Amino acid sequence: MKKEYADIIHRCFRCGWCKLPLNFKDFNCPSYLKYRFESFSSGGRLWLIRAWMNGEIQTSERFAKILFSCVTCKNCVEACAMPKIRQYLVDMVIAAREDMVEQGVIPPGVRDYLKAVSISGNAYKMPQEQRAIWADGLDIPLYSGQEYLFYVGDVGSYDEVGKKMARSVAMLLKKADISFGILASDEITDGNEVKTLGEAGLFEQIASQNIEKFKGLGVRKIITLSPHAFNSMKNEYPKLGGNFDVYHYTQVLNAAIKDISMAEVDLKVTYHDPCYLGRWNNEYWAPRSVLRSVPGLELVEMDRNMQNALCCGGGGGNFFTDILGTGPDSSSRVRVKEAIDTGASVLAVACPICYRMLSDAVKAEGLEDRIEVRDIADIVNDAVAV
Ligand code: SF4
Ligand code: SF4
Repeated sequence: MKKEYADIIHRCFRCGWCKLPLNFKDFNCPSYLKYRFESFSSGGRLWLIRAWMNGEIQTSERFAKILFSCVTCKNCVEACAMPKIRQYLVDMVIAAREDMVEQGVIPPGVRDYLKAVSISGNAYKMPQEQRAIWADGLDIPLYSGQEYLFYVGDVGSYDEVGKKMARSVAMLLKKADISFGILASDEITDGNEVKTLGEAGLFEQIASQNIEKFKGLGVRKIITLSPHAFNSMKNEYPKLGGNFDVYHYTQVLNAAIKDISMAEVDLKVTYHDPCYLGRWNNEYWAPRSVLRSVPGLELVEMDRNMQNALCCGGGGGNFFTDILGTGPDSSSRVRVKEAIDTGASVLAVACPICYRMLSDAVKAEGLEDRIEVRDIADIVNDAVAV
C-alpha cells in the first residue's frame, strides 16, 4: 500500500460515524447494513487492513469478502469524523485491493469479471459486434467528428434495462438537435470498475486504449450514459493524458431542455442519486433540474437524498461480482421501500446500474403495482411525445 496511506490508516479511532448518514437516521453503509459486523463498515475495515498490513492477520476468504463488499459509495467519506483521513477512506480500500490483486488472492467473482473484461472488452463476455443492438432502428451515426461522442458503456450495451435507457437518452438527444455519434462495436469498457476492484494495470491499459481511440477520432466532448464512465473519463483519464470535456447525459439535457416543448404530465416522482454522480462528482442538481422541467411532474425527496443517499449496492464492482449479495437487508431493497414511503409512483434513476439493481429490488419486494423504476430520459421522452 502507498506509504501516504500506511502512515494515516491508524488515525481512524472507531467512532462508527462512517456507517450513518449525516442526519443519523439509519445505517447508510451498504455492507454494514447487510452484514451488521463492524468489520464490514469503513472504520472496522480500515482496522482489519491495518492488521493485515502489519502481518497480524493472514489473507483469507473472509478478509477478501470484507474488502470486496465495499461498494465504494463514499457515504463514509461524507460522514467520517476525522477530517485528515476522510477523503482517503475509499482510496485506502482500493489500495488494499490492489495489493490483493498483485498477490493473486482475489475472490472468484472478481477474478471472473477482470478476466471477462480483459478477454472480451466487456463484462458480459458478449461479442463486440452486438454492442450497438440497442440502437437498432434509431438511425444513429457512427462518430465521425460530431460535437459529442455518446459513450454507452457495458451495461447500456448489453443489459436489457441498460439498453432501454441508452435508447431513451439517444432519442432525446436527437429531439434536442444535439450532434452526436457512437462507437458501436468499436466501443470497449471504460474501466471504472476495473480500477475500483484494484486492477490498476488493466485499468491503465483500458484507459490508454480508449484515450488513443478518442484522440485518433478527434473527440473533444463526451456524453456518458453511466455515472461510472463519467467518473473515470472525467477524473482518471486526464492523469493518463486524456483530456476531454466529459458530461453525464443529465447535464447535457439540462442545458438543452429549455428548447424542448413538453406536454403536461401527472406524475409524482422521487429521484435516487447515483453515488458516482452525487458523492463522487458533486452533481446533484442537473438530474433534479431536468425532472423539474417536465410540466406537471411533482418531485418529492426520499428521507436520504443527495449527500445522504443510500447506494443501490451496485458500486465498486459489486454489480458484476455480487459479493455484497442480495436479500431483505440489501441496500437496493431497503432503498425501494424508502421510495415507497414518499408516495411517489415512479423511482427515477440516472444510472444503468441503479436501474437494474432497483428494478430487481422492486420485483423482489413484490412492489411492481406500487412503484415503477424509470430513467430520467424515458420520463422526459414520454412528456415530449404526448
Ligand atoms: S467515522 Fe472515520 S474515524 Fe470514525 S470509525 Fe469511521 S473511518 Fe474511523
Ligand atoms: S464506501 Fe460505502 S460501502 Fe464502502 S465503507 Fe464507505 S459507506 Fe461502506
